Order: sequence, then C-alpha cells, then structure tokens
Amino acid sequence: MLAPLNIAGIVIIAYNQVCCNHCRFCSVGKKRFDDISFSQFVKVMERFLEWKEQTNKIDTFAPFILYTHATMNYEQSKAYRELCARGSYRPLPLQMNGCIFMPQDDMYSLLERHRRAGYDRLSLTFCGNRSVHDLWAGRRGEFDFLLKIARIAAQLGYHRQEQIFLSKSSIPVLDELLDQLDELPGEHTRSIYPFNYIGFAQKLENERINSDDLLSVPDKAKPYIELIDGIHNEPYRSESEWIDWVKKNYDNDAPRDRFLGITLSEESLPQLLSEDCDKIYDDYYTRFNNVYQQIPEITELADRFGDHDNDKLYALYELERKWVEAYVTKHLADFEEDYRISDF
Ligand code: SF4
Repeated sequence: MLAPLNIAGIVIIAYNQVCCNHCRFCSVGKKRFDDISFSQFVKVMERFLEWKEQTNKIDTFAPFILYTHATMNYEQSKAYRELCARGSYRPLPLQMNGCIFMPQDDMYSLLERHRRAGYDRLSLTFCGNRSVHDLWAGRRGEFDFLLKIARIAAQLGYHRQEQIFLSKSSIPVLDELLDQLDELPGEHTRSIYPFNYIGFAQKLENERINSDDLLSVPDKAKPYIELIDGIHNEPYRSESEWIDWVKKNYDNDAPRDRFLGITLSEESLPQLLSEDCDKIYDDYYTRFNNVYQQIPEITELADRFGDHDNDKLYALYELERKWVEAYVTKHLADFEEDYRISDF
C-alpha cells in the first residue's frame, strides 16, 4: 500500500469559465464546462468553510475556478479573494493564458477591476517564441496577446510572474524569447523549468529534456533555470537515477500530503448543497483511501514499472504519478472507484 494518506486540504474546483486555448500540455486534460453560477460556487464554499471552522479537520481550503477567472466582475473577484482568505489559501496570481482575445481598452478595465479587488500579481506562461508558443497553446495570436497583457499589467502596477517551459522545442528559441520578454516594462520574476508530467503533457515525452539538452541552454537563460521541484524541494533527476535513489532512500511509511479535489458540477451540486459536509468529506476520504490502499508501495512500483533506460528528467512526484498510472492501467478491472478521484 502507498504511504499513509494525509489530507492537507480540500480544493473545490469549478469549471465554470471558458479557456480559449487548446494547449498540448494542458494539466487539466480533456476540456469541460459546467454550468455553475458564481453564487452557487460561493454557497458551496461557504458551507464547507463553516464546516472547516467548526471541525478543524483540515488546514487549507482552496476555491479553484478553472480555467481562468479573469472574466469575473469586481464584486465576484473581491468575494473570491475573501473566500480564499477564509480558507487560509493565498489566491494564485491572475492566470492570463487562455483568456479570450479582447481589445486593449477591455483588457485594461478587466485588469483594473481585479487590481481594485486586491490582485497585484499576474501569471503568464510561455512555451517558446511566437511560433512555438502559439503551436503549443493551440491558438494563433496568443503569444502577442500575452505581451499586450504584460504591458497593460505594468501600467497598473502588477507584478508579473513569467513561467517558461523547458522543452526540446523551447531550448533553441530561448534566446529570442528572452530578448522579447526583456523589452517588457514592469516588475517581474521569471522561472524556466520542465513542464509538469500531468494531463495531456504525459503524452509529450518526446519533448521532455535530459541532462544533455541542458548543455544547449543559452547562457542568458541559465540564471532562470529551476531544476528543484518547488512542492517537495526535490531535484529533477532522470528516471533511471530516481529508480536507484528510491530503492536506497525512499521512506514508504512517510505520509505524503495530498489535496482532496471536489469538483462542482451539475451532478455533484445537489449533494454539495444539501448533505452534511462531514458526511461528504468522510465519503470522499473513504473512496480516496480505498483506492490508495489497493496500490503497492512506491519502491515496488519503481521496481516493476520504472524504466532504467529513461534519461529524461522528472521531479519524484511526477514519477510516482507515472508508476501509479502504469499500475492502475494494468489492473483497471480491480478498481471499483474511478481512481482519478485521488490526485496522485
Ligand atoms: S491555458 Fe491552461 S487550462 Fe487552458 S488549455 Fe492551456 S493549460 Fe489548459
């Protein structure tokens, strides 16, 4: 069985906004849209927040509106931030990838109302220069649109977080991309790292880099390269190195923190609005834990499913996911529950 389960928090996810991209690496995977109003989202959140405050069963409660909540009005944006604060969750910066194209003035007023509501950070993710980015995002024009957003955000005093994916396709164009980003006004931070092994990105293994690829990274990009996984503070290593590391060092008994994801949909809404939150939590936890208990420990999975010939770089949690997926795919018939309720 996998290491004991420690639920660090709950994430309530609503897919009630439209994302205009079709990213090849999308962590969400297949797109969906649920017709959930903002007020329904708030009602569910308030129920769970009251329950959290009364029971103290979890530390963090994160409201999460996918894909982007940039279309929310001022009152909604403010209410959203208040929900985050009540749940002890720091809201993510405004995620601008996938935002619907709009004229300059409309974008200005969009960013201005979120600024008034309390946002001061904004996030832009780049997959490469203009042509590589647009290809990966599945939308022609997104690269230029993001640059336009960056300029407006600078006028409004946003701090810009730039993420750049490190891939076989991006390395040759990093110089050109950085030249363009360096021309943008405004305060910013920048990090360059491999894309996460999740969702559609699991099918992009031919784009994942190995140590040799790092030799081709231009000097200009080197100060921004981050090859430490920020969640667990672990380095990126090749799969073959991780297998050896896991065999020698992995503590199968150390609890790994997990977040319980509850998706708000037309089907789940009636239950989430009426049933006792304690019961809902216990039901989800039991289902999550049942799945967990059917999966062998990580050292065994590494031994059975690890690929010793794979020199591509991963964070350890990505390989845990890869090996768990390999196990589940092989034993699908044994799983009564949809194992995806638990985010490995
Ligand atoms: S912008 Fe984000 S949510 Fe939209 S397709 Fe791309 S990765 Fe997925």
